[in-house]
Amino acid sequence: MALLQISEPGQSPLPHERRRAAGIDLGTTNSLIATVRDGHVQVLGDAEGRILLPSVVRFHADGAATIGQAAAEAEVSDPLNTIASVKRLMGRGRAEIGASPYDLSSTDEGPVRLRTVAGEKTPVEVSAHILRALKARAEAYLGGELSGVVITVPAYFDEPQRQATKDAARLAGLPVLRLLNEPTAAAVAYGLDRNPEGLYCVYDLGGGTFDVSLLRLSQGVFEVLATGGDALLGGDDMDAALVRHWMGEGARATSPSETRQLLRAARHARERLSGETEIMIDVPGVFQGLLNRATLEGLIDPLIERTLAPCRRVLKDAGVKVADIHEVVLVGGATRTPRLRERIEGFFRKAPLHDIDPDQVVAIGAARQADLLIGNAGAADMLLLDVIPLSLGLEIMGGLVEKIIPRNSPIPASRAQEFTTYKDGQTALALHVVQGERDLVSDCRSLARFSLRGIPPMVAGAARIRVTFRVDADGLLSVTARELTQGIESEITVKPSFGLSDADIERMLGDSIIHASDDALMRALREQQVEADRMIVAVEAAMAEGADLLMENERTAIERQMVLLQSVKGGTDPQAIRAAIVSLDQASADFAARRMDAGLRKAMTGRSVTEFS
Ligand code: ADP
Ligand code: MG
Repeated sequence: MALLQISEPGQSPLPHERRRAAGIDLGTTNSLIATVRDGHVQVLGDAEGRILLPSVVRFHADGAATIGQAAAEAEVSDPLNTIASVKRLMGRGRAEIGASPYDLSSTDEGPVRLRTVAGEKTPVEVSAHILRALKARAEAYLGGELSGVVITVPAYFDEPQRQATKDAARLAGLPVLRLLNEPTAAAVAYGLDRNPEGLYCVYDLGGGTFDVSLLRLSQGVFEVLATGGDALLGGDDMDAALVRHWMGEGARATSPSETRQLLRAARHARERLSGETEIMIDVPGVFQGLLNRATLEGLIDPLIERTLAPCRRVLKDAGVKVADIHEVVLVGGATRTPRLRERIEGFFRKAPLHDIDPDQVVAIGAARQADLLIGNAGAADMLLLDVIPLSLGLEIMGGLVEKIIPRNSPIPASRAQEFTTYKDGQTALALHVVQGERDLVSDCRSLARFSLRGIPPMVAGAARIRVTFRVDADGLLSVTARELTQGIESEITVKPSFGLSDADIERMLGDSIIHASDDALMRALREQQVEADRMIVAVEAAMAEGADLLMENERTAIERQMVLLQSVKGGTDPQAIRAAIVSLDQASADFAARRMDAGLRKAMTGRSVTEFS
């Protein structure tokens, strides 16, 4: 489909000109990069042809950094300066992180910092090193700078974690086309997005984390129905179980370094036993012996069992039965274990998809998506796979925004909400469509203005106007306003581009987080000011019309409260305005009741769209 940020006229690539795009799986244990060339996905290796880049960064006293295999080798000898599994720290503050093998700075402000010989480093900086190493691979292979990348993140990553990932990319000089959920990337790699619809389970067991996601594809859009998992369960735990077994068999590890050696041997043995049935283990001076697959399976069975509980929970959360699942996709190096595949097949009663290398499947899907987003794939291949990057809403009284379609809603999307008039006899409404996360219209982007005329005159609050926002598969927004009693209608179509660059989106999102508390205060103030104005207009009109029903002492009391409300409403304290509104309401309550009795309709209150002028 014409995706939101790249389909602007004049921005599409020239015919025959292919732009350099890549997909990146930024993993906890390993990271990798892939690109599409001549319609085929190529996963890129280093000079020695190694595809998996261990997600490990070692800092040196001179400020230099070593990344990948060489860094991983220093984990034992230089533990505080060699950072592994940094993904667990992304977007997190000090207080959110428990025990850590690293020297974390103690300040609670901002992102956590790691103290190294090269100074304090944030997780974003550490990740940027990994991304730079991957970028170099791709640029060497493609012969030039990358114009865009898709980076995958776990489906459960929250906004700060996603933001941190984008920040790392920016620091590494990588333009991010978008972040993609890891399970969605795996589904894309298998081409499941070509199906008209389906329910898919993605089972991802990596080195240190287990994630299970349930995806629903409908009309070309993947929706994450439920996610679950265990942030502390993976191949590493299988290694630990194996080492414990060896200790029982007489292994003598007397130093942390020897324990590390045993763990490495365990990992290596486990990986080999996915293909062989019996192997020889030799860790000089520490342990020697034979290991067969059956012994390993006995040790890891309880761990495999532990992955099934989150699978059950995810199904339950989504209200889905095993039989409803169309395909199960295996992701993560640890799913190469034959025993695990058997157990998964038993649980889901269906052979899982595994023909794409489970280490590479996420990067492959990301590469496909990047190729598509950058505009290299033909229009026929365009798939619908996007979300609304920033909320779409309508201006309401007080210069406030009422969000109609929240950000991240999958496209196509449609939502309706009812509004009403603000003034008695109002026959027209001005509608102002805006986009952004902030509460005030002035802090959002204006997309379009239109009006609905011919509303039959009614008392304020009596008219019912349904406003429908619809974003179609091509990313076009149409807004319809319909008056429900007479059926008059008005409509406008806008391209909500969107035209926004990623940087704009990031800035706007960042602002909304920074200003969240100011915005909430401003919103409360504006709401009370609007209510005060509405109340003053209504009471004045009532006093003019119902003068005969008004007693003299009542008139004095009401007028006094009006003056008070007039004087506080221009202030900055929403509570003071509220208090004055309540007092005016009380002073006029009896009078209002008599007018009701006199057969007049009391004006209903409700949210009003900006009065038409
Ligand atoms: P992450 O997503 O955490 O970065 P990966 O998907 O790269 O991790 O998975 C790493 C894990 O996969 C390690 O525990 C590794 O031992 C395991 N693994 C890799 N190859 C095999 C194999 N052939 N058999 C069993 N486990 C394997
Ligand atoms: Mg992974």
